[in-house]
Amino acid sequence: MNSKNFNTLPLSQEMLTNLNEIGYKEMTPIQGESLPLILEGKDLIAQAKTGSGKTAAFGIGLLSKLDVKKFRVQALVLCPTRELADQVAKELRMLARFTHNVKILTLCGGAAFGPQLGSLRHGAHIIVGTPGRILKHLNKDSLSLENLETLVFDEADRMLDMGFIEEIEKVLQYAPKERQTLLFSATYTDEIMAISDSVQKDAVSVKTIETESVNKILERFYEAQNGDKLRTLVKIFATYKPENVIVFTNTKIEAKELAENLQKQKIDALAIHGDLEQYERNDVLVQFANKSCPVLIATDVAARGLDIKELSMVVNYDLPHTEETYTHRIGRTGRAGQEGIAITLYDSYEIQKALEYKNEVRIFEDADSLKKENGFEMKPQYVTLVIEGGKKDKVRAGDLLGALTGDAGLAGSSIGKIDIYERQSYVAIENAKIQQAHERLKNGKIKGKKFSVWIL
Ligand code: ADP
Ligand code: MG
Repeated sequence: MNSKNFNTLPLSQEMLTNLNEIGYKEMTPIQGESLPLILEGKDLIAQAKTGSGKTAAFGIGLLSKLDVKKFRVQALVLCPTRELADQVAKELRMLARFTHNVKILTLCGGAAFGPQLGSLRHGAHIIVGTPGRILKHLNKDSLSLENLETLVFDEADRMLDMGFIEEIEKVLQYAPKERQTLLFSATYTDEIMAISDSVQKDAVSVKTIETESVNKILERFYEAQNGDKLRTLVKIFATYKPENVIVFTNTKIEAKELAENLQKQKIDALAIHGDLEQYERNDVLVQFANKSCPVLIATDVAARGLDIKELSMVVNYDLPHTEETYTHRIGRTGRAGQEGIAITLYDSYEIQKALEYKNEVRIFEDADSLKKENGFEMKPQYVTLVIEGGKKDKVRAGDLLGALTGDAGLAGSSIGKIDIYERQSYVAIENAKIQQAHERLKNGKIKGKKFSVWIL
């Protein structure tokens, strides 16, 4: 029997069927190493690179232990950012599909406090959130960890980087001593070991960094003078023709300006950076993920924890400051066995620093070998429609699909990704059909109710 099979684990038949349905045919290396131990109830400290399937490792673990009939918080997942928390919650919901009524709640800063209080009053089994906001709820007694069984630190290294240590220590004072604690991190530092010592008992350490199959990523470096960078970037797009691409800049001002300049060149780009309001970030991320915008310009902080599936290309518009940043950035492409492209630009005065990156797979090429950019455009496949109604209004993907394909007469193939949030929903609509979809949804009803609808 293949030891990578999920069915070698003590999992319920429903869980096995679900894993098969969502396309998880076999365990990733980190899942193979960690799941047997997690399911035995051991404390675990696990290190594996980005995109290796850590979420499902702890997700399957905590869901297997969950007693759905007991309507109490039994698992808490601490994350560094709200984007990551949203992604973790999404994956957990997917993994929990087979059990009815598992309630998963995200509690993050930057979101309104009041609605969170309301949701907490209704109860939850699993909480995913950022340390600061979780602590606030604990302090106000709106959240109780009395029945906690599993505590997870996801991207623990990032949480430390972001200075969450004090909040984490205070959160721990509310957690029962008898519990399973799982700690995930991309790097192993003294600080991480110190945290492990203080929050875990006889933790087993699992590492897959060396044994894991390497992502297939084509890595290329090009020299581009400062004044010529924009043109070189467009040439790169024209040469490699990525379907979707994240361009990293070192500053948020640069991110903003670059997005504007690309738009002037008929390359559809949006920027995500620390100055955006939560709803603006969300609008941008949704459009990028649902193929309504092919180019995302981001700073490292803004892109933390972001997991866009099938990202074809990453560009370092500026030379990253460290090897670690470089690896982290390019690790977003070429996931799950698909080949990715990672391009790095450097100015001639940075040549020394750039050469430090050079190795047998990182090839330095002449920018003259790139295609001419004349008239090159990048347009999205879809346009996003926003509906001012979400989970709170009991709007479901099926309702929107029904309203669009039934009343609005669109073919199912004209509709892309649907994202439902608390108060809003987003639907990707094929370019040519956007007016038709907008008109019909605006004038029609969803679940017998009228909602405001607009085009992003
Ligand atoms: P990490 O947290 O290690 O960076 P994620 O948990 O976000 O990685 O997983 C990366 C991607 O791999 C996700 O899109 C996830 O759905 C997918 N994935 C996880 N486990 C499996 C599996 N066993 N088989 C196939 N895909 C998987
Ligand atoms: Mg992760």
